[in-house]
Amino acid sequence: MGALQTEIERRGERIFDLVDQHPEPLFSKAGFYQRMMALSMRDEHFKVQLFRFVDVLASLDRGSDIVQHLDEYFADMRNGYAPLIRTFTRGARIVPWFSGQLLRWNVSGMARQFIAGKNSADVMKMLRKRRAQGIGFTVDLLGEAVVSEQEAAEYAGRCLELLEHLGRETRGWTDPLGKNTELFPVVNLSVKISALYSQMNPADPADAIAHLAPKLRPILRRARELGAFVNFDMESYAHKNATLELFRTLFTETEFRDWPHVGIVIQAYLRDAENDLLDLLDWGRARGTRFAVRLVKGAYWDFEKIKSRQNGWACPVFLQKPESDLNFELLTRIMLENESIVTSAFGSHNVRSIAHAQALADQLGIDRSRFEFQLLYGMAGPVKRALVEMGYRVREYSPVGELLPGMAYLVRRLLENTSNEGFLRAKFSENVSESELLRNPAELVDQSPNGARHVEVSSDGASLDTPAGDTYENAPLVNFVYQQNQDRMQEALAHVRTQLGQKYPLVINGEKVWIDKTIASINPSSPEDVVGHVAEAGIPEAERAVKAARDAFEKWSRTSFETRCRLLERAADIMHRRRFELSALEVFEVGKAWAEADGDIREAMDFCRFYAHEMRLIGRPRLTQHVLGEESYQHYWPRGVALIIAPWNFPMAILCGMTTAALVTGNTVIMKPAEQSAVIGAMLMEIFEEAGVPPGVLNYLPGKGSVMGAHLVDHKDVDLIAFTGSREVGLRIWESAGKTREGQRELKRVICEMGGKNAVIIDADADLDEAIVDTIYSAFGYQGQKCSACSRLIILEEIYPRAIERLLNAAASLRVGNPEEPGIMVGPVIDGTAYKRILEYIDIGKNESRLAFQRADVPQKGFFIPPTIFTNVSPKTRIACEEIFGPVLSVMKARDLDEAFEIANSTEFALTAGFFSRSPANIERAKAEIVAGNVYVNRSCTGAVVGRHPFGGFKMSGGGTKAGGADYLLQFVVPRVVTENITRHGFAPETTPLYRDEFLGPR
Ligand SMILES: Cc1cc2nc3c(=O)[nH]c(=O)nc-3n(C[C@H](O)[C@H](O)[C@H](O)COP(=O)(O)OP(=O)(O)OC[C@H]3O[C@@H](n4cnc5c(N)ncnc54)[C@H](O)[C@@H]3O)c2cc1C
Repeated sequence: MGALQTEIERRGERIFDLVDQHPEPLFSKAGFYQRMMALSMRDEHFKVQLFRFVDVLASLDRGSDIVQHLDEYFADMRNGYAPLIRTFTRGARIVPWFSGQLLRWNVSGMARQFIAGKNSADVMKMLRKRRAQGIGFTVDLLGEAVVSEQEAAEYAGRCLELLEHLGRETRGWTDPLGKNTELFPVVNLSVKISALYSQMNPADPADAIAHLAPKLRPILRRARELGAFVNFDMESYAHKNATLELFRTLFTETEFRDWPHVGIVIQAYLRDAENDLLDLLDWGRARGTRFAVRLVKGAYWDFEKIKSRQNGWACPVFLQKPESDLNFELLTRIMLENESIVTSAFGSHNVRSIAHAQALADQLGIDRSRFEFQLLYGMAGPVKRALVEMGYRVREYSPVGELLPGMAYLVRRLLENTSNEGFLRAKFSENVSESELLRNPAELVDQSPNGARHVEVSSDGASLDTPAGDTYENAPLVNFVYQQNQDRMQEALAHVRTQLGQKYPLVINGEKVWIDKTIASINPSSPEDVVGHVAEAGIPEAERAVKAARDAFEKWSRTSFETRCRLLERAADIMHRRRFELSALEVFEVGKAWAEADGDIREAMDFCRFYAHEMRLIGRPRLTQHVLGEESYQHYWPRGVALIIAPWNFPMAILCGMTTAALVTGNTVIMKPAEQSAVIGAMLMEIFEEAGVPPGVLNYLPGKGSVMGAHLVDHKDVDLIAFTGSREVGLRIWESAGKTREGQRELKRVICEMGGKNAVIIDADADLDEAIVDTIYSAFGYQGQKCSACSRLIILEEIYPRAIERLLNAAASLRVGNPEEPGIMVGPVIDGTAYKRILEYIDIGKNESRLAFQRADVPQKGFFIPPTIFTNVSPKTRIACEEIFGPVLSVMKARDLDEAFEIANSTEFALTAGFFSRSPANIERAKAEIVAGNVYVNRSCTGAVVGRHPFGGFKMSGGGTKAGGADYLLQFVVPRVVTENITRHGFAPETTPLYRDEFLGPR
């Protein structure tokens, strides 16, 4: 055993000895809290329900509501406490007011365990107490979830007040160690960067810095005058780079360059942490003034894991707990070895991590007064006491604030305290032996091939590991947190800009067809810029395309499904290669923000791979039943020539989705993109040509829907029409296709996806931090031009005043502008016609209801419609019933949930809907009662993912088809069954295979 390990063990044992002299259970507050935590650690389901109940409690006012939630969360408990809980709930219902208050009091008690005070005056009592114990403080203002700039400004104001208060109240306080005091001011403020700017976008750190720096400078200036220390806390990974950059930018400014009392957090659970720390040290040396780093493991481990899984990103955090511990030690060493420039604060409750820092500091000859240990308020009290007794500097992280904004913090602490992997639980609850707790984490990291250390990560942050047994996986979204991806997007925008204005031909039967008449596709942000001139097909070209497709059908329909699947997969690979270029083109041609454009390309790739996957499932003839002496196989034939008519709002994804479904099932295709996005359509054609689509199988035919499109819909040789677009055109196609024409072979199949008038309901107990952000995104993301967008918001009366105030402030904070800029949320609407139509609707809305909000500061050039919100909207008015397809939101108030559902279900459409609530019973009702093809609970109502959220509506929203779902392909085929009597003179084979080869002979 090395000398360092021996010393770590010696230190650790000493800490444990001191801890044991003042035995304290894991949860210092006895009674209710301790029992709840004990039960949570034994029963995972109980833990989830308890934390959810705690999460909602602060927002409930009435005793009866509290009791009702208690009942809903715990009624189905199956553990040993179930009878007790049921008895309590029954009793609680008799005296709801009393029981509600009792519960609130108890949960407030839990919160008080971790929150040092409600306000600055309150917290001083605690800080004085700690001072007497030789413990310093850093104060953190709770309330990190801001949804608007008004809330961010309030937070900044409260930070300043807090600083003043602390400065005043601690006058005369001295450093507990009385040594190296110049490194450790008494007043120490921790700030959460995201609480100071509501529009942080990982793609645009420069914008974040431009907004954050002016808010922070007055706080920093005042802190410096008061001789205080300011620390930037670290939050989720999405904000990490911006926080680091902001720190470096501000503290390189002349005014702050020579100020040593500033610090930042490094999270050891991040794989990037070492690089980030080394970069900071280089920066610090160049700056020439000391600064501080608080080293922690990190508080958002569960969140980062979930988020990265959902988006297909490489997980930024280590997946094995000992990896985080080991990294903590590695970073401890780096920090201590660079003591000349960095003041270290070790933020941990783990005795091994602490003992390691102590032993290493000694080994490096660093005096114990030159660094400090920081621990959280309400946690590991005996460890703090032990460290003080050992002569170390200890600072307590003391959150201040009300219960409601403190809930997120409280739940993080509860999770941490009950985590299976946490040190505190192991030591204070499970009584794991000291020697085990002090083991070198290097020995505990699982190095086996299945060990989490071996997760493959590509350089741009995409995950390369595929879950075993899962053959279809969504493509990852581009993670714009990475500078490399931001740069690639900027380069792509610059490159595509040089390509604008080119001409694009039709493609018929594999040949480029140039014609004089062209459609000019323009940039909606800058209408004088032509993105491309696309040949405009007329009736003669339509006839040629039908003939080409019909001729190619014979061979393509008898091409093996595997060949067709591979074509789609090659197309997806090409899209992947050209991903940034295609996204950039969408920014120019249809005004999509970066992430929206990327989402569209991702969806197109997903459609290719998903439909290939689905085709492989249905491609081979399948035995219908095992019957001796006979075999019956069901299989599918393509329908014939498919006409694909696509909209501009998902210019690549929807066009590609409908086209690939037709192609993979063996149909030949005439692909008609929307006029406004015909250049993207040309790109899709180019991609399929490169992928090797045979001549005539896919024909690219942009043109006027009303002329050429209508002609094709009626054409006797078109067998299938897949349409996505407006209700008006959809119904016309549906009707027209119902007429059988002279010479027509098949009954035409119409696959029809139309619009929506989608409602989001905010229940009385909803988490507004989430509901407002998600509703704003659903309503104004891509300017409200998604068919899934929220255009009606129904808020329960009880929560209406607070919700509406936050909603309007959030809308006022949105970033509106040219989407070429990263981080823009609201860009232009698609064209002049849409612009005029939406403005007309806004005028109608002004007459029908109350204009509650309209942005004034939108760009003058381009088709920018100011985000607009109407309130007091009656459900029967035009703006509440008709599809506007723009950034216009109608808000309605509902007395109760019955009325909310009635309003939500009162339109002719049934596409998407959203419901925000923390009542399990109400969530169940929403799942059962909301009439929509896609119902989303506690999340935005846009952003369906292929395979995960099969998408499409019914009523006047469409034919009930589900794009990206398992049944979608069945609409592109005709089922066929072939039955053979296989008995010969009473003899038949014993078994018949479940699948057989395709029937591919000539037809
Ligand atoms: C004073 C102070 C300030 C802090 N400030 C911040 C801050 O600004 N930002 C922030 O994010 N955190 C911050 N933290 C850290 C965080 O809140 C937790 O307290 C800390 O991670 C717990 O670590 P520990 O060493 O005390 O306990 P341990 O029990 O040793 O470690 C628990 C930690 O290990 C990590 N972990 C758990 N499971 C796994 C796994 N399977 N694989 C890999 N890693 C895993 C997680 O980070 C978890 O929190 C702060 C902590 C303190 C004490």
